[in-house]
Amino acid sequence: MKLQYKAWLLIVAAVILLTLLAVGVTSLALSKSLADLEQEEATQEGDRAKQLLDLQLQDLVATVKDYGYWDDTVLFVEGKDDAFLADNITVENLTTLRVAEVMVLDRRAQVRAAAHIVPGQGLVMTASPLRTLLVDQAGDVLADASGMKTTGTYVRQGGELYMVGVVAIRSPAKPNGSPVGALVMVRRFDHAELLRFSHVLMSSVSLHLLDEHEHAQKGAMIPISSSRAEIHAVIEDSAGRPIAELVQIMDRSIAQEASRIVLTTGAEVLLAGLMIGGLLVLLMDRWVLRRLNRMHDQLGQITAQGAEGDAQIRMGGQDELTVVAQGINALLQRVRHDAAVQREAHARQEELQLQLMQSQKMEAIGRFTGGIAHDINNSLAGISGWIRVAMEDLPSDHPGMEALDRALKGSSYAGGLMRQLLAFSRQTEPRLERLSMSDLIERARSLTAAGMLKRTEVVVTSDVDPSQDQVMADPTQLQQVLMNLLINASDAMAGEGRIHIVTERRLWSGNDDVHSLPGVAGLPVGEYLHVTVRDEGPGIAPEHLDRVFEPFFTTKDTGRGTGLGLSVAHGIMGRHRGSVGVSSRLGEGSTFHLMIPVATAVASGEPGEVQHAAGDQARRRILLVDDDDSLRHAWGRLLERKGWDVVRARDGEEAWLHFQHSTTPWDVVMSDLAMPHVDGRELATRILATPNPPPIIIISGHVDGPERDSLLHMGMSMVLSKPVDAEELLAALQRIVRQKRDTSGAA
Ligand code: ADP
Repeated sequence: MKLQYKAWLLIVAAVILLTLLAVGVTSLALSKSLADLEQEEATQEGDRAKQLLDLQLQDLVATVKDYGYWDDTVLFVEGKDDAFLADNITVENLTTLRVAEVMVLDRRAQVRAAAHIVPGQGLVMTASPLRTLLVDQAGDVLADASGMKTTGTYVRQGGELYMVGVVAIRSPAKPNGSPVGALVMVRRFDHAELLRFSHVLMSSVSLHLLDEHEHAQKGAMIPISSSRAEIHAVIEDSAGRPIAELVQIMDRSIAQEASRIVLTTGAEVLLAGLMIGGLLVLLMDRWVLRRLNRMHDQLGQITAQGAEGDAQIRMGGQDELTVVAQGINALLQRVRHDAAVQREAHARQEELQLQLMQSQKMEAIGRFTGGIAHDINNSLAGISGWIRVAMEDLPSDHPGMEALDRALKGSSYAGGLMRQLLAFSRQTEPRLERLSMSDLIERARSLTAAGMLKRTEVVVTSDVDPSQDQVMADPTQLQQVLMNLLINASDAMAGEGRIHIVTERRLWSGNDDVHSLPGVAGLPVGEYLHVTVRDEGPGIAPEHLDRVFEPFFTTKDTGRGTGLGLSVAHGIMGRHRGSVGVSSRLGEGSTFHLMIPVATAVASGEPGEVQHAAGDQARRRILLVDDDDSLRHAWGRLLERKGWDVVRARDGEEAWLHFQHSTTPWDVVMSDLAMPHVDGRELATRILATPNPPPIIIISGHVDGPERDSLLHMGMSMVLSKPVDAEELLAALQRIVRQKRDTSGAA
């Protein structure tokens, strides 16, 4: 059931209940007070009837008193007027006085005369059965010596009620004299008297004589119907005993009026209740229910729109419903925001998944190309070795010389290609060269200049002497780092502004303030070149600052940024035993910090020593181990030409035999890493375990950073990656021999 209908039902039920309650309570209260009123009226009415009856009795007593104070009566009692009876006690007289019996007593309460009217017979000159009673009453009056006492009382006898008046008979001449007798008059309260009384009372009255055991209901009102009730007024005798009741019939107009009022009031209350209820329902409908309905409809629309909609609950007014609507809107906003964040996270996750798949694909291609490049490298090394041998054998003006020279250049070009392939496959360690940082910066600047808008200016400053800014670095990789930083800076400034590149030398003690040198945590202590690339762009938001080096983190539009530039830079700097870090504040541009170890000083004339090696008088002994025949022989021959005494071995097993059985000490052992039977590592382990082992050079087509570290840690003097340039190899050998000589000399 709709809330609206429920509210209607509730209000109507409440109104009806309240109305019934109000009517009930009102009628109860009204009936109670009206019943009290009715009872009071009945009591008053009863009292009035009784008072009126008492007045009649007093009337009778007054009449008796008239006769008692009369001279004729006195004379009669004293026996001096015998005609008194015949003159006064007649049927006419008694009927006029409405008296049924008369009794005259002398001062000793002896009955002097008595007469009573018997219906149907007339006046009988004797006392009635009331005689004893009447004599008693007269005795009481006579007992009062003052003669002032009178008695008016009611008497019941033989199913009739009588009013009795008794007075003392006194001479008017002696008002203070004692009574000479007593006069008693009795009025029968018969039907005619009752009728008369009813007329006087102006209300119909009946008489109810009480039995001995019957209780009187003085002042009681006894309802006999809804419209009529009896009122009982009690009549008592001289001793105070109830002997009869006057019963009046009363119209219950108050009760009738009360029920009429209750009914009318009830109807009015019901009507008023219904009207107020209706008004309440209307107001509630207008103020609450309709608005709730509207809110419900709007919520339905919002739900239909789903999480991507932008609808809100519109609710006018300033009351609680408006506050609830505002609360729901805020909640809605939050839910939508959360949903958007989740959608974004999901999309990012999917993008990451795609990129992961892409990078896995790239890695597979890398491995594939790396494998091919490795084999071709070996062949190229052999080819170039043999070409060099041939060139050594031929006179310099030989016509074949040019062809050999071109072939050597061709193989060197192919070697370069292979290096690029290996760089792409990321399987190669950086090919470290001694380089000038300022040259590198200049090269990176000119390479990026074309891609940047003409309005980007790169300002390069350095407080390092050009002869002191040497680093050992792979030029391609370090250039890539610098170019990535320049492109990012230019992008951040939308191609318009200045980029400052500053180079300085810094000694990193390990405890310096890392805030001024972000990214250096964990760098080994030493001397570094510190290169900063600062732009005047908008800076990086604090919440992004920690994430810019994460792979695939980008704030650029799809197609413009891959999020790999800084992570690649990070990897490259790590491989160069350096670091990259960033400091930035919103609105103040960004500064990227590069740290790269300064190259140790090179003894002057060192590069020339390669050429002089051939002229070295003492021949050096080298054990050359490689499973590639072509390479082994080409290098063997080349080394021999350069004055080396070369012993060749095709694997570790053979080399170990040579090593053990040689009586002449070895100057150098140069071995490939991956070989059948005993590999380069095993051979080196065995050699290093002998007393006074010679320096060992490992030369391999595929050795990564950790493996290189572990080999150097084992005690190798040098680890070289193929393809190795002949010049480079000879220079390295030269250096090692000199180092060995220096150490043994020092020893
Ligand atoms: P890409 O350039 O492809 O986004 P990067 O790894 O080079 O990837 O950069 C990652 C993010 O670092 C950029 O998207 C950019 O938000 C932020 N960033 C890099 N350099 C700057 C800079 N100089 N100023 C402001 N933000 C930069």
